[in-house]
Amino acid sequence: MSLENNNASNFIRTIITEDLQSGKHKEIITRFPPEPNGYLHVGHAKSILLNFGLAEDFGGKTNLRFDDTNPVKEDTEYVESIKEDVEWLGVKWDKLLFASDYFEEMYNRAVLLIKKGKAYVCDLTPEEAKEYRGTLTEPGKESPFRNRSVEENLELFERMRKGEFKDGEKVLRAKIDMSSPNMNMRDPIIYRIAHATHHNTGDKWCIYPMYDFAHPLEDAIEGITHSICTLEFEAHRPLYDWVVEECEMDAKPRQIEFARLNITNTVMSKRKLKQLVDERVVDGWDDPRMPTISGMRRRGFTPEAIRNFCREIGVAKSDSVVDSQMLDFFLREDLQPKAPLAMAVLKPLKLVITNYPEGQSEILEIENNAKDETKGTRMVPFSRELYIEQDDFMEVPAHKYFRLFPGNEVRLKGAYFVKCTDVIKDENGNVTEVHCTYDPETKSGSGFTGRKVKATIHWVDAKTALPAQFRLFEPLILDDAPENEGKHFLEQINPHSMEILEGFIEDVAFKDAKALDKFQLVRNGFFCVDPKYTTPEKFCFNRIVALKSSFKPAK
Ligand code: ATP
Ligand code: MG
Repeated sequence: MSLENNNASNFIRTIITEDLQSGKHKEIITRFPPEPNGYLHVGHAKSILLNFGLAEDFGGKTNLRFDDTNPVKEDTEYVESIKEDVEWLGVKWDKLLFASDYFEEMYNRAVLLIKKGKAYVCDLTPEEAKEYRGTLTEPGKESPFRNRSVEENLELFERMRKGEFKDGEKVLRAKIDMSSPNMNMRDPIIYRIAHATHHNTGDKWCIYPMYDFAHPLEDAIEGITHSICTLEFEAHRPLYDWVVEECEMDAKPRQIEFARLNITNTVMSKRKLKQLVDERVVDGWDDPRMPTISGMRRRGFTPEAIRNFCREIGVAKSDSVVDSQMLDFFLREDLQPKAPLAMAVLKPLKLVITNYPEGQSEILEIENNAKDETKGTRMVPFSRELYIEQDDFMEVPAHKYFRLFPGNEVRLKGAYFVKCTDVIKDENGNVTEVHCTYDPETKSGSGFTGRKVKATIHWVDAKTALPAQFRLFEPLILDDAPENEGKHFLEQINPHSMEILEGFIEDVAFKDAKALDKFQLVRNGFFCVDPKYTTPEKFCFNRIVALKSSFKPAK
């Protein structure tokens, strides 16, 4: 199956096709280069599916490369989670690589730049460097250290590596053009000092390459043909090309930018997601409300739903925000045929059938999927006492309310007609039990046509039902465009993003259910068995998505 979009062409596809036809490349190699400083989110899924999908469609390869050149924020926990998430999405990497394995080569390339007079050690403080840098409208000023001799630069750079200087005391800068209209070309820093332990190289290094220097080298070392990244790197492309050229790399990768994925009511930067975790707004990176791949997996998303969604939104050259309902649409579409049907009551109200013999019970055969006979049936116990949803009863019915109220008759799904005869209340006047009579003639499947009812409600048998917890979710962020600067996203947290309910499930369908199994609970939506809060005594379910929305993607 194609991961990306086989039929629809896009501008990246066009470039690749031309490069293959012209003979520029025989085989294409792409990469997905996450920095292991957090868990992956659905935006990364977009990038993964694009990179792996393009390579697959053109018979090429994709590397998973950890872009681990910043020791301070990176961690092996993140490396492991990223591998798991990439695999879960269903793609296979060619090589698993770490940018930090190239530190020696990067160092040598920096030495080459110094020897060519294209890089120098600079002692300006960060404040001074900022002042020298100029602005968008004013050119920068040349650093007083710009014309150090090659020998002096070589010696200082080596001493930087040996650890003779403190963090921030010196940097290595590319010597390009302080008056360039592109700020990125104004002698950018390419190495900095950081006395920090690195997750992969330990204490071997105390100088680390900057992203704009490291990334093009990583791509070139691996022979990446098309280096696909998000739009904010467009203005960095001249520097990317400069590094590849001046460092005399054999391979000449081409950077191509596309628009990052944004979704309404969703923050999508690892930095912000980490804040939600650190400040305990959520219960971890895999909280079902998080847009992380691990959170979505725990919520009950399938890789197929994410893939179909990413394929539908395609690749664009300008930023936009996708409606989160579109993701829900693909989720429902994927779950509908897969998730077996069962009944659960989330807000229970006891219903007693007063004319059903005490101590008696029967087994009803109910379809697993009303739209698909091949899914078979299940045997559901039925007896005198049941639970129904509180919302399915009103003592004083509202206008056009057709469900249960005193004197009214409804169908119990897959069972019988029941008619409400009486209610029992507690001392506060709350209804605690609904009393009904049932009509044995009306059994489902008996072909009864004597009279009709206007509503069918679901239920579970009180004696055999299992207690269960249900977690219902709303967006974590209230603002529909939370990535807009100006408003702080932590002030936009939805206080009602999770509702926890204690109810019941029919026992049969869930006998062998295990963590992450998905069900369609009649009238309540799609649910997934939570791997963290489910215990041997009690299931905990996350609502993946409600059953209905009016949203349909444009054709
Ligand atoms: P974040 O700001 O969330 O940390 P990042 O871009 O810094 O994101 P990286 O780990 O550096 O995260 O990203 C790995 C790859 O995923 C990069 O190529 C990046 O462009 C891509 N990517 C990150 N976020 C998105 C997004 N929202 N949509 C599409 N691609 C993305
Ligand atoms: Mg980053």
